[in-house]
Amino acid sequence: MNIHEYQAKALLRDFGVPLARGTAAFTPDEAVKAAEAMGGALWVVKSQIHAGGRGKGKFKEAAAGDKGGVRLARSLDEVRAAAAAMLGNTLVTIQTGPAGKTVKRLFVEEGTEIARELYLSALVDRETSRVAFIVSTEGGMDIEKVAHETPEKIVTVHIDPAMGYQAFHGRDIAFALKLQGGQVKECVDLIGKLYRAFVVKDMALLEINPLIVTKDGHLKCLDAKVNFDDNALFRHPEVVALRDTGEEAPAEVEAAKYDLSYIQLDGSIGCMVNGAGLAMATMDIIKLYGREPANFLDVGGGATKEKVTAALKIILSDVHVKGILVNIFGGIMRCDVIAEGVVAAVREIGIKVPLVVRLEGTNVELGKSILKASGLNVIPANDLDDAAQKITKAVAAA
Ligand code: GDP
Ligand code: MN
Repeated sequence: MNIHEYQAKALLRDFGVPLARGTAAFTPDEAVKAAEAMGGALWVVKSQIHAGGRGKGKFKEAAAGDKGGVRLARSLDEVRAAAAAMLGNTLVTIQTGPAGKTVKRLFVEEGTEIARELYLSALVDRETSRVAFIVSTEGGMDIEKVAHETPEKIVTVHIDPAMGYQAFHGRDIAFALKLQGGQVKECVDLIGKLYRAFVVKDMALLEINPLIVTKDGHLKCLDAKVNFDDNALFRHPEVVALRDTGEEAPAEVEAAKYDLSYIQLDGSIGCMVNGAGLAMATMDIIKLYGREPANFLDVGGGATKEKVTAALKIILSDVHVKGILVNIFGGIMRCDVIAEGVVAAVREIGIKVPLVVRLEGTNVELGKSILKASGLNVIPANDLDDAAQKITKAVAAA
């Protein structure tokens, strides 16, 4: 689960992380009020969307001007103008895709004079089963480009969970970032706080780009992107409360209601499968026969008829779906329950695209006869290979 920059910063502030002061704003008036209350002579007005690259992004609407989604303002009038230009308009960045995202919230922050922009992120490194800090002197810009062109400028420091965070980790990072004097101590302190926040809040990713050295020589986190481990959200109601469903794909929000693991993709074959491994295999074999999956969908082990109906509805809500492949192995799950769900869903919403169903396992014969007796236009398949061939052929013929 993702949250907005202003929410991430509020959370990090609780751990003592150095940040500029700022306030969220939903209207130009609120933005001006926030800037006025903070005082000073330089503010930054920042679009809040669940995507990075805002600074270099472009608005679709000409009225928004060509200054991107992060703008410096040197007067309250400039704050108002920047806020009015961004709110309600569509920001397109390298991370939003061509459709862009509508800016509905802003973060108005006290402006900082920057001496150096650095890169810092933390993630769970699955290879070493440790939290890894990844840092670079090349901050503020596209880190993928740095990784590709000058990989030697990226340094990784792993934290052994049994040992926990130690000052030498922080010093290694400070050295990699070419920090000097008092900044080294600040860095040791900062990394310790970030590590604590990461572990306590069950983050999956924490990215500070840029981490800056201010003109007066101190460290400050200028941007913050946080992604949480969904499997740990049950431990953090305070994090769940930060969810902005307006930023998430509507189909994924709907799927979450039914506890379905659903991820929308770009292809044309909708998949309904039980078990993540089987879902991956199904997606692979669709690709093998020349098509792309429209989604990943795991209905789970103990799906009910209602869950199956909801899953099919979600798949069908995607206009790119040209055919559906249902692939179920009945272990705990019974094939007759799946068949009933499929029939109920088709009766309720109607399906205008080909539907191939492959059932195997518990109550398979009963499941097959339910489908057959329904009189609905369902193409039965015997195994995974057969199913993939049938759906790709049916879609090609349609
Ligand atoms: P992103 O483009 O979505 O990653 O948004 P960032 O929060 O990283 O902001 C983009 C860029 O705006 C940063 O890399 C900085 O160069 C600039 N910026 C952000 N805040 C400030 C600030 O307080 N002062 C100055 N001078 N520049 C800032
Ligand atoms: Mn950034």
